[in-house]
Amino acid sequence: MTRRYICPACRQRRGVDIDFGYPTPELFDLAERGEAVIGGCVLPLIGEPERQCLACGHRWAIRRRR
Ligand SMILES: [Zn+2]
Repeated sequence: MTRRYICPACRQRRGVDIDFGYPTPELFDLAERGEAVIGGCVLPLIGEPERQCLACGHRWAIRRRR
């Protein structure tokens, strides 16, 4: 199941990873129900938002260790 994260904007646990790469039929299904976000086939640049809140639409970047 998709992991949920706390949205920094509205504090609801409705944040999901934006799915990059070629979307699967399952992902299209989830996106249609508002349960996933399709990011497209282009991978995000560093600092680009990688999560989106399904409640308020806020997007934010994950702080990653490299
Ligand atoms: Zn939110």
